[in-house]
Amino acid sequence: MTERFTGSFTQQEPIPEAAIEAALTVMRHGRLHRYNTVGDDPGEVALLEQEFAALTGAQYCLAVASGGYALGCALRALDVGAGDQVLTNAFTLAPVPGAIAAVGAQPVFVEVTAQLTIDLDHLQKMIRDTGAKVLMLSHMRGHLCDMDALMAICDAAGVQVIEDCAHTMGAAWNGVPSGRHGVIGCYSTQTYKHMNSGEGGLLITDDAVLAAKAVILSGSYMLYERHLAAPAPEVFEGLKLDTPNVSGRMDNLRAAILRPQLQGLTEQCARWNERYQVVQDGLRDTPGLQVIHRPAPESFVGSSIQFLLPGWSGAKLRDLIARCGARGVELKWFGADQPIGFTSRYDHWRYAAPTALPQTDAVLAGLIDMRLPLTFSLEDCALIARIIRAEVSALYQAT
Ligand SMILES: *Cc1c(COP(=O)(O)O)cnc(C)c1O
Repeated sequence: MTERFTGSFTQQEPIPEAAIEAALTVMRHGRLHRYNTVGDDPGEVALLEQEFAALTGAQYCLAVASGGYALGCALRALDVGAGDQVLTNAFTLAPVPGAIAAVGAQPVFVEVTAQLTIDLDHLQKMIRDTGAKVLMLSHMRGHLCDMDALMAICDAAGVQVIEDCAHTMGAAWNGVPSGRHGVIGCYSTQTYKHMNSGEGGLLITDDAVLAAKAVILSGSYMLYERHLAAPAPEVFEGLKLDTPNVSGRMDNLRAAILRPQLQGLTEQCARWNERYQVVQDGLRDTPGLQVIHRPAPESFVGSSIQFLLPGWSGAKLRDLIARCGARGVELKWFGADQPIGFTSRYDHWRYAAPTALPQTDAVLAGLIDMRLPLTFSLEDCALIARIIRAEVSALYQAT
């Protein structure tokens, strides 16, 4: 009998009951705007910021409208503007070069390795060649590079690092949370990330001036004293007349949905990793297929899984995706000529005028990606791995 999987790769878990209750409370009192508060109640957004700062160990936290907004806000806070060059790893998602382009800057792509992380040698070369002073490092699909080595390179060159932690909320390198290595860490709470408020983002930093600029940028008007995870009012004094309002606040409804999820984040991350492990174990030692090695210092969150099919032709990969798709297993391929759904590649971002990156091209040509929503049981994960294994083996042997 040919096994088939019938679950949905885009179905997340429901919002927890406690979060639904909290959202109803906000809707019943009607004060959805973060600065619409009464009495001693600081509001859901201020509390979320305080709790996320505590969780990550950051001095300051700002909640905003989306992960992409957080990235743009980070660039603006660092005074990145028209004509500046911003380094970023070539394997990332479209909102990253988009945030760079949105401030009028130029993305400069850096090669990635077969571990799916930024190539540190190429990074050093590109720092030398361009003189760029900012790296927007995207921990794409949750893969962390050697953060100690990366920070040593960037610190020595005076390059400031913004971490895009859209896929690494809850992850760490050598025990230091993702987002705490660079000068600013940015997170997304969009539906497909590790907490779900539909849309939303968080920004953390230890730098008081950057935090104050980010707060004003996000649209605080002169109400920044109501924040619980922002710098002291004096820090704002020298900045408030020189920093534009680029509205992108979070509202109390989204924050209310997120606070109970934050309490459960560690447990959810453990559940993702159980699922990841089952799929990874099921795929290991499949001829023709290479699982991605995860280094010991990396504590990752397995909310998606990637593997490589090195040397496979495009035709064969398309065949594999079709055959797995027919059995209910939705794979994404990063080697397609055209962007499909959420999946696009650096050379599709024509506005960024990308130059060819042969090493990245070779990696992406054989890179398969699959979501692992928590609605999958461990049995589902084992079944998915069996289906992929069978189809890879059948096609690999056909050569
Ligand atoms: C989702 C995502 C973002 C942006 O987040 P939004 O909240 O959708 O704006 C940034 N980087 C990566 C890698 C992402 O996957």
